[in-house]
Amino acid sequence: MIKTINSIDEKIIRNNLINLKNLVFEVTEKSNLNCKYCGLSDHLYEKYDVRKSRDLLFEKAVLMIDYLVNLWKDNYVSDINSPLVISFYGGSH
Ligand code: SF4
Repeated sequence: MIKTINSIDEKIIRNNLINLKNLVFEVTEKSNLNCKYCGLSDHLYEKYDVRKSRDLLFEKAVLMIDYLVNLWKDNYVSDINSPLVISFYGGSH
């Protein structure tokens, strides 16, 4: 069943981060391909953000992981037996 929400507030975002199951790092915006199924393209998504050939800074990825670890330390995580899947997205150039 697909659950739809009409508005997003800080509490919803925080709760989803606390119970996060999938973390995707977009490591680069430099892909020179134009796959129709790409989550970074305008083929499937109306409000995608424009690619600017940026790379993800390692420090930003570490900052995100540190933020999440602190969030998990301070909050009740409902399902600690489900693994967090960390994946990387971006493409070649
Ligand atoms: S980022 Fe991946 S899916 Fe997207 S256009 Fe590049 S190669 Fe294709």
